[in-house]
Amino acid sequence: MVLLSVPAVPLLGSARSGDLFQLLLDGAPRTRAELAALTGLARSTIAVRVDALMATGFVSAVGGAASSGGRPPSRFAFNPAARTVLAVDLGASHSVIAVTDLAGTVLASLRAEIAIGEGPKPVLDLVIDHARQLLDSLGTQAGGLSGVGIGLPGPVDHTTGRPANPPIMPGWHDFDVPGYVRRAFDVPVLVDNDVNIMALGEQRTHWPDQGNLLFVKASTGIGAGIIGNGQLQRGAMGSAGDLGHVRVARGAHVFCRCGNIGCLEALAGAPAIAAALASHGSDVRAGELVALAEHGNPAAVAALRQAGRDLGEVLATCVSLLNPSVIVLGGSLATAGDHLLAGVREVVYNRSLPLATAHLTIALARSADDAGILGASMLVAQHVLSADAIEAVVALQP
Ligand SMILES: [Zn+2]
Repeated sequence: MVLLSVPAVPLLGSARSGDLFQLLLDGAPRTRAELAALTGLARSTIAVRVDALMATGFVSAVGGAASSGGRPPSRFAFNPAARTVLAVDLGASHSVIAVTDLAGTVLASLRAEIAIGEGPKPVLDLVIDHARQLLDSLGTQAGGLSGVGIGLPGPVDHTTGRPANPPIMPGWHDFDVPGYVRRAFDVPVLVDNDVNIMALGEQRTHWPDQGNLLFVKASTGIGAGIIGNGQLQRGAMGSAGDLGHVRVARGAHVFCRCGNIGCLEALAGAPAIAAALASHGSDVRAGELVALAEHGNPAAVAALRQAGRDLGEVLATCVSLLNPSVIVLGGSLATAGDHLLAGVREVVYNRSLPLATAHLTIALARSADDAGILGASMLVAQHVLSADAIEAVVALQP
Protein backbone atom coordinates (compact mmCIF):
# COMPACT_ATOMS: atom_id res chain seq x y z
CA MET A 1 0.00 0.00 0.00
CA VAL A 2 1.28 3.45 -0.90
CA LEU A 3 0.48 6.11 1.62
CA LEU A 4 0.88 9.81 1.14
CA SER A 5 3.52 11.68 3.05
CA VAL A 6 2.62 13.85 6.01
CA PRO A 7 3.41 17.53 5.49
CA ALA A 8 6.43 18.68 7.47
CA VAL A 9 4.75 21.97 8.39
CA PRO A 10 3.06 21.94 11.82
CA LEU A 11 -0.59 22.94 12.04
CA LEU A 12 0.20 26.08 14.08
CA GLY A 13 -3.13 26.14 15.83
CA SER A 14 -5.21 25.71 12.66
CA ALA A 15 -8.45 24.06 13.66
CA ARG A 16 -9.97 22.83 10.40
CA SER A 17 -10.81 19.15 9.96
CA GLY A 18 -9.03 19.16 6.61
CA ASP A 19 -5.78 20.29 8.24
CA LEU A 20 -6.08 17.71 11.00
CA PHE A 21 -6.66 15.07 8.34
CA GLN A 22 -3.26 15.81 6.75
CA LEU A 23 -1.62 14.43 9.92
CA LEU A 24 -3.42 11.13 9.43
CA LEU A 25 -2.38 10.65 5.79
CA ASP A 26 0.64 8.55 6.82
CA GLY A 27 -1.84 5.83 7.78
CA ALA A 28 -0.67 5.56 11.41
CA PRO A 29 -3.55 5.16 13.91
CA ARG A 30 -3.69 7.86 16.58
CA THR A 31 -5.79 8.59 19.65
CA ARG A 32 -7.58 11.88 20.29
CA ALA A 33 -4.99 12.61 23.01
CA GLU A 34 -2.12 12.03 20.56
CA LEU A 35 -3.76 14.32 18.00
CA ALA A 36 -4.25 16.99 20.69
CA ALA A 37 -0.57 16.73 21.67
CA LEU A 38 0.55 16.91 18.02
CA THR A 39 -1.54 19.95 17.18
CA GLY A 40 -1.86 21.85 20.43
CA LEU A 41 -5.64 21.87 19.92
CA ALA A 42 -8.04 21.30 22.84
CA ARG A 43 -9.27 17.70 23.31
CA SER A 44 -12.84 18.93 22.84
CA THR A 45 -11.94 20.52 19.48
CA ILE A 46 -10.15 17.33 18.37
CA ALA A 47 -13.24 15.27 19.30
CA VAL A 48 -15.50 17.47 17.13
CA ARG A 49 -13.07 17.38 14.17
CA VAL A 50 -12.53 13.62 14.37
CA ASP A 51 -16.30 13.04 14.45
CA ALA A 52 -16.67 15.23 11.37
CA LEU A 53 -13.94 13.27 9.55
CA MET A 54 -15.47 9.93 10.59
CA ALA A 55 -18.78 11.06 9.07
CA THR A 56 -17.07 11.53 5.70
CA GLY A 57 -15.61 8.01 5.80
CA PHE A 58 -12.08 9.32 5.13
CA VAL A 59 -11.16 8.47 8.73
CA SER A 60 -12.21 5.30 10.52
CA ALA A 61 -11.74 3.79 13.95
CA VAL A 62 -9.14 1.04 14.33
CA GLY A 63 -8.33 -1.37 17.21
CA GLY A 64 -7.96 0.16 20.70
CA ALA A 65 -4.61 1.40 22.04
CA ALA A 66 -2.83 -0.36 24.90
CA SER A 67 -4.23 0.82 28.21
CA SER A 68 -3.42 0.23 31.86
CA GLY A 69 -7.04 -0.47 32.64
CA GLY A 70 -10.61 0.38 31.79
CA ARG A 71 -11.85 1.01 28.28
CA PRO A 72 -8.97 1.46 25.82
CA PRO A 73 -8.91 4.86 24.07
CA SER A 74 -10.19 4.78 20.50
CA ARG A 75 -7.68 5.20 17.72
CA PHE A 76 -8.32 6.65 14.28
CA ALA A 77 -6.61 6.36 10.94
CA PHE A 78 -6.91 7.41 7.33
CA ASN A 79 -9.20 5.00 5.49
CA PRO A 80 -7.93 4.59 1.90
CA ALA A 81 -10.98 2.47 1.04
CA ALA A 82 -13.31 5.43 1.62
CA ARG A 83 -13.38 6.31 -2.08
CA THR A 84 -12.15 4.94 -5.38
CA VAL A 85 -10.07 6.53 -8.15
CA LEU A 86 -10.30 5.84 -11.86
CA ALA A 87 -6.74 5.76 -13.21
CA VAL A 88 -6.15 5.76 -16.96
CA ASP A 89 -2.84 5.39 -18.80
CA LEU A 90 -3.12 6.00 -22.53
CA GLY A 91 -0.32 5.21 -24.98
CA ALA A 92 -0.19 5.39 -28.77
CA SER A 93 -1.72 1.94 -29.25
CA HIS A 94 -2.50 0.59 -25.79
CA SER A 95 -4.29 1.65 -22.66
CA VAL A 96 -4.51 0.54 -19.06
CA ILE A 97 -7.67 1.42 -17.15
CA ALA A 98 -7.83 0.75 -13.42
CA VAL A 99 -9.91 1.42 -10.35
CA THR A 100 -7.78 1.97 -7.25
CA ASP A 101 -8.37 2.99 -3.68
CA LEU A 102 -6.99 6.27 -2.33
CA ALA A 103 -3.62 4.66 -1.54
CA GLY A 104 -3.07 3.46 -5.10
CA THR A 105 -3.99 -0.18 -4.46
CA VAL A 106 -5.45 -1.56 -7.70
CA LEU A 107 -8.94 -3.04 -7.13
CA ALA A 108 -9.66 -3.90 -10.76
CA SER A 109 -7.95 -3.19 -14.07
CA LEU A 110 -7.96 -4.06 -17.73
CA ARG A 111 -5.83 -3.45 -20.79
CA ALA A 112 -7.32 -2.44 -24.12
CA GLU A 113 -5.95 -1.79 -27.58
CA ILE A 114 -6.60 1.76 -28.77
CA ALA A 115 -5.49 3.95 -31.65
CA ILE A 116 -4.77 7.34 -30.10
CA GLY A 117 -4.68 8.84 -33.60
CA GLU A 118 -8.41 8.17 -34.07
CA GLY A 119 -9.00 11.30 -32.03
CA PRO A 120 -10.28 12.07 -28.55
CA LYS A 121 -13.96 11.08 -28.75
CA PRO A 122 -13.62 7.43 -29.92
CA VAL A 123 -10.71 6.84 -27.53
CA LEU A 124 -12.36 8.46 -24.51
CA ASP A 125 -15.71 6.76 -25.25
CA LEU A 126 -13.90 3.41 -25.14
CA VAL A 127 -12.17 4.36 -21.88
CA ILE A 128 -15.50 5.43 -20.35
CA ASP A 129 -17.18 2.15 -21.43
CA HIS A 130 -14.39 0.04 -19.90
CA ALA A 131 -14.35 2.17 -16.75
CA ARG A 132 -18.09 1.64 -16.26
CA GLN A 133 -17.57 -2.14 -16.61
CA LEU A 134 -14.82 -2.09 -13.99
CA LEU A 135 -16.85 0.04 -11.56
CA ASP A 136 -19.90 -2.21 -12.09
CA SER A 137 -17.80 -5.32 -11.43
CA LEU A 138 -16.73 -3.88 -8.08
CA GLY A 139 -20.32 -3.06 -7.13
CA THR A 140 -21.30 -1.02 -4.12
CA GLN A 141 -18.66 -2.57 -1.84
CA ALA A 142 -16.05 -0.17 -3.22
CA GLY A 143 -16.22 3.46 -2.12
CA GLY A 144 -17.75 6.11 -4.36
CA LEU A 145 -15.67 7.46 -7.23
CA SER A 146 -13.65 10.47 -6.06
CA GLY A 147 -11.87 11.47 -9.26
CA VAL A 148 -10.34 10.47 -12.57
CA GLY A 149 -6.63 10.71 -13.43
CA ILE A 150 -5.52 10.38 -17.05
CA GLY A 151 -2.01 10.18 -18.53
CA LEU A 152 -1.66 11.11 -22.21
CA PRO A 153 1.31 10.41 -24.53
CA GLY A 154 1.94 14.07 -25.37
CA PRO A 155 2.23 17.58 -23.91
CA VAL A 156 -0.70 18.65 -21.75
CA ASP A 157 -1.57 22.00 -20.23
CA HIS A 158 -2.04 20.61 -16.73
CA THR A 159 -4.14 23.56 -15.52
CA THR A 160 -6.82 22.94 -18.17
CA GLY A 161 -6.20 19.25 -18.93
CA ARG A 162 -6.08 20.07 -22.64
CA PRO A 163 -3.37 18.51 -24.87
CA ALA A 164 -1.05 21.09 -26.47
CA ASN A 165 0.05 20.24 -30.04
CA PRO A 166 0.71 16.56 -29.25
CA PRO A 167 2.77 15.16 -32.16
CA ILE A 168 1.33 11.62 -32.22
CA MET A 169 -2.25 12.59 -31.32
CA PRO A 170 -4.01 14.17 -34.32
CA GLY A 171 -7.30 15.84 -33.37
CA TRP A 172 -6.45 16.11 -29.68
CA HIS A 173 -4.98 19.63 -29.68
CA ASP A 174 -6.84 21.82 -27.16
CA PHE A 175 -9.59 19.19 -26.71
CA ASP A 176 -11.37 19.59 -23.36
CA VAL A 177 -10.53 16.12 -22.00
CA PRO A 178 -11.74 16.82 -18.43
CA GLY A 179 -15.02 18.33 -19.69
CA TYR A 180 -15.72 15.34 -21.94
CA VAL A 181 -14.98 12.76 -19.23
CA ARG A 182 -17.00 14.69 -16.61
CA ARG A 183 -20.10 14.22 -18.76
CA ALA A 184 -19.81 10.52 -17.83
CA PHE A 185 -18.32 10.83 -14.33
CA ASP A 186 -19.18 14.01 -12.45
CA VAL A 187 -15.97 14.17 -10.39
CA PRO A 188 -12.64 16.04 -10.69
CA VAL A 189 -10.75 14.90 -13.82
CA LEU A 190 -6.99 15.53 -13.82
CA VAL A 191 -4.92 15.11 -16.97
CA ASP A 192 -1.15 15.20 -17.37
CA ASN A 193 1.45 13.86 -19.76
CA ASP A 194 2.40 10.23 -19.26
CA VAL A 195 6.01 10.94 -18.25
CA ASN A 196 4.99 13.23 -15.37
CA ILE A 197 2.49 10.65 -14.22
CA MET A 198 5.02 7.81 -14.43
CA ALA A 199 7.52 9.92 -12.45
CA LEU A 200 4.95 10.42 -9.71
CA GLY A 201 4.01 6.73 -9.65
CA GLU A 202 7.62 5.52 -9.59
CA GLN A 203 8.70 7.98 -6.90
CA ARG A 204 5.77 7.42 -4.54
CA THR A 205 5.90 3.64 -4.92
CA HIS A 206 9.59 2.83 -5.01
CA TRP A 207 11.54 5.89 -3.86
CA PRO A 208 9.31 7.53 -1.22
CA ASP A 209 12.32 8.85 0.72
CA GLN A 210 13.90 10.46 -2.35
CA GLY A 211 12.27 13.83 -2.90
CA ASN A 212 14.51 14.83 -5.82
CA LEU A 213 14.09 12.35 -8.64
CA LEU A 214 14.31 12.52 -12.41
CA PHE A 215 12.28 9.94 -14.32
CA VAL A 216 13.37 9.54 -17.95
CA LYS A 217 11.20 7.75 -20.49
CA ALA A 218 13.19 6.63 -23.51
CA SER A 219 11.21 5.02 -26.31
CA THR A 220 9.98 6.61 -29.56
CA GLY A 221 10.33 9.99 -27.89
CA ILE A 222 12.47 11.00 -24.94
CA GLY A 223 11.15 13.01 -22.02
CA ALA A 224 11.57 13.39 -18.30
CA GLY A 225 9.33 13.94 -15.29
CA ILE A 226 10.94 16.03 -12.56
CA ILE A 227 10.16 15.51 -8.88
CA GLY A 228 11.67 18.32 -6.79
CA ASN A 229 11.23 18.48 -3.03
CA GLY A 230 8.63 15.71 -3.31
CA GLN A 231 6.46 17.57 -5.83
CA LEU A 232 6.08 17.31 -9.59
CA GLN A 233 7.80 20.28 -11.25
CA ARG A 234 5.94 21.15 -14.43
CA GLY A 235 7.43 24.57 -15.15
CA ALA A 236 5.54 27.67 -16.28
CA MET A 237 3.58 26.01 -19.10
CA GLY A 238 3.94 22.33 -18.24
CA SER A 239 6.76 21.57 -20.66
CA ALA A 240 9.52 21.05 -18.07
CA GLY A 241 11.44 17.85 -18.78
CA ASP A 242 10.89 17.87 -22.55
CA LEU A 243 14.42 16.65 -23.28
CA GLY A 244 13.85 15.15 -26.73
CA HIS A 245 14.85 18.25 -28.63
CA VAL A 246 17.91 19.27 -26.67
CA ARG A 247 20.93 19.35 -28.98
CA VAL A 248 23.70 16.80 -28.50
CA ALA A 249 27.25 16.99 -29.82
CA ARG A 250 27.11 13.90 -32.04
CA GLY A 251 24.15 15.28 -33.99
CA ALA A 252 25.80 18.05 -36.00
CA HIS A 253 24.49 16.60 -39.28
CA VAL A 254 21.27 14.93 -38.12
CA PHE A 255 17.95 16.54 -38.96
CA CYS A 256 15.00 16.25 -36.57
CA ARG A 257 11.29 16.22 -37.42
CA CYS A 258 10.93 19.38 -35.29
CA GLY A 259 12.98 21.33 -37.86
CA ASN A 260 16.14 21.65 -35.79
CA ILE A 261 19.45 19.85 -36.13
CA GLY A 262 21.06 17.42 -33.70
CA CYS A 263 18.13 16.75 -31.35
CA LEU A 264 18.56 13.97 -28.78
CA GLU A 265 15.43 12.24 -30.08
CA ALA A 266 16.75 12.28 -33.65
CA LEU A 267 19.78 10.29 -32.45
CA ALA A 268 18.61 8.23 -29.50
CA GLY A 269 14.87 7.70 -30.04
CA ALA A 270 13.89 4.15 -31.03
CA PRO A 271 13.06 5.00 -34.69
CA ALA A 272 16.34 6.91 -35.05
CA ILE A 273 18.37 3.99 -33.68
CA ALA A 274 16.59 1.55 -35.99
CA ALA A 275 17.16 3.82 -38.98
CA ALA A 276 20.86 4.15 -38.14
CA LEU A 277 21.22 0.36 -37.90
CA ALA A 278 19.40 -0.04 -41.23
CA SER A 279 21.79 2.40 -42.90
CA HIS A 280 24.63 0.09 -41.82
CA GLY A 281 22.98 -2.90 -43.46
CA SER A 282 20.90 -4.27 -40.54
CA ASP A 283 17.22 -4.43 -41.44
CA VAL A 284 15.75 -3.41 -38.07
CA ARG A 285 12.43 -1.85 -37.28
CA ALA A 286 12.04 0.21 -34.12
CA GLY A 287 9.78 -2.41 -32.52
CA GLU A 288 12.39 -5.13 -33.02
CA LEU A 289 15.29 -3.22 -31.55
CA VAL A 290 14.66 -4.23 -27.96
CA ALA A 291 14.21 -7.93 -28.82
CA LEU A 292 17.44 -7.90 -30.86
CA ALA A 293 19.38 -6.32 -28.01
CA GLU A 294 17.91 -8.82 -25.56
CA HIS A 295 19.25 -11.61 -27.80
CA GLY A 296 22.68 -10.02 -27.77
CA ASN A 297 22.76 -8.74 -31.35
CA PRO A 298 26.08 -6.80 -31.31
CA ALA A 299 24.90 -3.94 -33.53
CA ALA A 300 21.72 -3.42 -31.48
CA VAL A 301 23.62 -3.60 -28.19
CA ALA A 302 26.21 -1.08 -29.41
CA ALA A 303 23.47 1.23 -30.71
CA LEU A 304 21.61 1.18 -27.38
CA ARG A 305 24.81 1.85 -25.48
CA GLN A 306 25.55 4.83 -27.74
CA ALA A 307 21.97 6.08 -27.25
CA GLY A 308 22.66 5.86 -23.51
CA ARG A 309 25.76 8.02 -23.95
CA ASP A 310 23.79 10.61 -25.95
CA LEU A 311 21.09 10.62 -23.30
CA GLY A 312 23.79 10.81 -20.61
CA GLU A 313 25.19 13.96 -22.20
CA VAL A 314 21.83 15.71 -21.71
CA LEU A 315 21.32 14.17 -18.26
CA ALA A 316 24.75 15.40 -17.09
CA THR A 317 23.45 18.93 -17.67
CA CYS A 318 20.24 18.05 -15.80
CA VAL A 319 22.35 16.78 -12.88
CA SER A 320 24.24 20.09 -12.74
CA LEU A 321 21.00 22.05 -12.87
CA LEU A 322 18.76 20.01 -10.57
CA ASN A 323 21.06 17.87 -8.38
CA PRO A 324 18.68 14.89 -8.22
CA SER A 325 19.46 11.99 -5.87
CA VAL A 326 17.95 9.45 -8.25
CA ILE A 327 17.70 9.19 -12.03
CA VAL A 328 15.30 6.45 -13.10
CA LEU A 329 15.29 5.16 -16.67
CA GLY A 330 12.00 3.86 -18.04
CA GLY A 331 10.42 3.36 -21.46
CA SER A 332 10.97 0.58 -23.99
CA LEU A 333 14.66 1.33 -24.63
CA ALA A 334 15.42 0.88 -20.92
CA THR A 335 13.87 -2.58 -20.85
CA ALA A 336 16.49 -4.23 -23.08
CA GLY A 337 19.05 -5.27 -20.49
CA ASP A 338 21.40 -2.71 -19.01
CA HIS A 339 22.79 -1.33 -22.26
CA LEU A 340 21.08 2.07 -22.17
CA LEU A 341 21.75 2.33 -18.43
CA ALA A 342 25.45 1.56 -18.92
CA GLY A 343 25.80 4.33 -21.53
CA VAL A 344 24.02 6.85 -19.31
CA ARG A 345 26.15 5.98 -16.27
CA GLU A 346 29.36 6.16 -18.27
CA VAL A 347 28.75 9.76 -19.33
CA VAL A 348 26.91 11.18 -16.30
CA TYR A 349 29.48 10.00 -13.76
CA ASN A 350 32.30 11.24 -16.01
CA ARG A 351 30.87 14.63 -16.80
CA SER A 352 29.23 15.74 -13.57
CA LEU A 353 30.98 17.28 -10.59
CA PRO A 354 31.77 14.91 -7.69
CA LEU A 355 29.45 16.72 -5.27
CA ALA A 356 26.48 16.18 -7.59
CA THR A 357 27.20 12.47 -8.17
CA ALA A 358 28.51 11.43 -4.74
CA HIS A 359 25.05 10.21 -3.72
CA LEU A 360 23.45 9.93 -7.15
CA THR A 361 21.76 6.64 -8.01
CA ILE A 362 21.07 5.88 -11.68
CA ALA A 363 18.75 2.90 -11.99
CA LEU A 364 16.16 1.25 -14.18
CA ALA A 365 12.50 1.93 -13.37
CA ARG A 366 11.09 -0.56 -10.88
CA SER A 367 7.41 -0.02 -11.47
CA ALA A 368 7.42 -1.34 -15.06
CA ASP A 369 3.95 -1.23 -16.60
CA ASP A 370 2.03 0.05 -13.60
CA ALA A 371 3.84 3.38 -13.04
CA GLY A 372 1.29 5.20 -15.22
CA ILE A 373 -1.69 3.82 -13.32
CA LEU A 374 -0.10 4.45 -9.92
CA GLY A 375 0.85 8.00 -10.89
CA ALA A 376 -2.63 8.81 -12.24
CA SER A 377 -4.12 7.47 -9.00
CA MET A 378 -1.66 9.53 -6.90
CA LEU A 379 -2.45 12.68 -8.88
CA VAL A 380 -6.14 12.32 -8.00
CA ALA A 381 -5.47 11.29 -4.38
CA GLN A 382 -3.29 14.38 -3.81
CA HIS A 383 -6.12 16.52 -5.16
CA VAL A 384 -9.09 14.99 -3.33
CA LEU A 385 -7.23 14.50 -0.03
CA SER A 386 -5.89 18.07 0.20
CA ALA A 387 -6.91 20.04 3.29
CA ASP A 388 -9.22 22.28 1.26
CA ALA A 389 -10.91 19.37 -0.55
CA ILE A 390 -11.50 17.44 2.70
CA GLU A 391 -12.79 20.59 4.38
CA ALA A 392 -15.28 21.02 1.51
CA VAL A 393 -16.54 17.43 1.95
CA VAL A 394 -16.87 17.96 5.72
CA ALA A 395 -18.87 21.15 5.10
CA LEU A 396 -21.33 19.19 2.93
CA GLN A 397 -22.10 16.63 5.66
CA PRO A 398 -25.61 17.01 7.14
ZN1 LIG B 1 13.96 18.08 -32.59
